[in-house]
Amino acid sequence: MQTAERLTKIPPYLFMELRKKIAKARADGVDVISLAIGDPVEPTPESIIDELCRTARDPENHRYPTDEEKGMLAFRQEIARWYNNRYGVTLEPATEVLGLIGSKEGCHHFVLACINPGDIVLMTDPGYPAYRASILMGGGEPWNVPILRKNGYLPAFEDIPTDVAKKAKGMFLNYPNNPTGACANREFLNRLVEFARSWDVAVCYDNPYSEILFEGQERISFLMAEGAKDVGVELNSLSKPFNMCGWRIGMAMGNRDLLAAISKVKENTDSGIFNPVQFAGIHALKNEVSSIGHMLDVYGFRRQMVLEALQKIGIRFDAPKGTFYLWVPVPEGMTSIEFTNRLFDKTAVVVAAGTAYGQYGEGFVRISLTVPNVRLKEAMERIIREFA
Ligand SMILES: *Cc1c(COP(=O)(O)O)cnc(C)c1O
Repeated sequence: MQTAERLTKIPPYLFMELRKKIAKARADGVDVISLAIGDPVEPTPESIIDELCRTARDPENHRYPTDEEKGMLAFRQEIARWYNNRYGVTLEPATEVLGLIGSKEGCHHFVLACINPGDIVLMTDPGYPAYRASILMGGGEPWNVPILRKNGYLPAFEDIPTDVAKKAKGMFLNYPNNPTGACANREFLNRLVEFARSWDVAVCYDNPYSEILFEGQERISFLMAEGAKDVGVELNSLSKPFNMCGWRIGMAMGNRDLLAAISKVKENTDSGIFNPVQFAGIHALKNEVSSIGHMLDVYGFRRQMVLEALQKIGIRFDAPKGTFYLWVPVPEGMTSIEFTNRLFDKTAVVVAAGTAYGQYGEGFVRISLTVPNVRLKEAMERIIREFA
């Protein structure tokens, strides 16, 4: 059977090799601790599950979702309220909000909605690998904008060549940033709007970590910037703030023409989110925002634990204040892969090599804080024993 060429363009998952090693070690009885994946282990808050169960019993909800691909109006209204309360952003629920089956779905459909074959789509290096896959599957040409530590991991728009900017039709951005943890500020958002406007680039601001912030870092939405709605959309998700990764529920907000285009793609692809999941989403935004604070305490505790362990082995750095990842410089004289392999061979602790996120990820590894405290503690003890 021959499969589509577009799939061959998507680079293989860089952890493949490591994954095999992990499987083999586990089969040999080694106690492997993986800090490589960002998927919260804590359960979804109980009351959200109750709301799912309650609404799942109503046969009305077994039919195609209400308002199909757009998401039910009550859900879109609740999203608008959340954005107003938490970010001071005003949204018209009927036209400026769209329900999504997770932010990842939104990334993919953004490309299908606004990119023609051969169009350049900008993304950052390092960056979330799904953007590249979405761009390639949608027939676009990914172009990497380096994000460097010395610039706070923000792109330098002035370094993007003019001929590239001219041909660029879209751009993916994500702050608080996976993998670096870096956060944007208002001044940066204004520059982004200006860049997008001057070159007519549609912005896809993927913001699933908007609530995952530490040390008093300000909550930021792209839509807070003047003119943002003219140039793009923001994606968000209930996956990370409410431990709902498996539920598949998210949202897109902003430019109504772009949202109408994405909606047209969805109408012909997925027909929207299961009603009970939307009811649960409404409940989460209405009643469980305080549970985010609880999770931030948990992540904050783990973050401190890892930073202290790293200090003990001589790794000191200014940790960015967003997401539940730490983007950690590897010891001098080692590549990301060398450090990752050494760590695994000596301690059976798995971290993500920075190069899995692009060439500018060289020199770093990403440590995820989404593991139980006891496991993280055990991992840090092994690392200290080996490297201190
Ligand atoms: C986790 C993650 C997503 C996926 O979010 P879903 O809503 O679960 O699809 C999207 N973007 C980034 C940067 C992520 O880290």
